[in-house]
Amino acid sequence: MNTRSTFVDRAHADKRLTALLKQAPIEFARAVYGINDYESGRTDTMAAREVARAQRQGMPLTEERAEQRARAYLPTVGQEHCPRCWVVYGQKTPLRFREADEERPEVAGCHACGAEYATSAD
Ligand SMILES: [Zn+2]
Repeated sequence: MNTRSTFVDRAHADKRLTALLKQAPIEFARAVYGINDYESGRTDTMAAREVARAQRQGMPLTEERAEQRARAYLPTVGQEHCPRCWVVYGQKTPLRFREADEERPEVAGCHACGAEYATSAD
């Protein structure tokens, strides 16, 4: 049994969770911009389009709903899900991690909404 690599893996997984948890309030703020854009007729912004999509799916996005979800966002190791899909749509979409290489840090990507999050940054 290789204890050292287990330790590194756990630290790595914790770092991912910490990075993702920081995204929930950012997605909440973004959702609020989207709601404001949508309500004032600026429907061509990315965030406003997401609000419109949530509406079409029969689950209109309100500030209260977005805030509640942002507070409740709780990714776990091996079941990391997309903060944006959760805050905007209330859906748990699994993230896919692309490991770091020389050119760019590790990124978690969502195939459903297209969000990308740097997950190896401190
Ligand atoms: Zn997503």
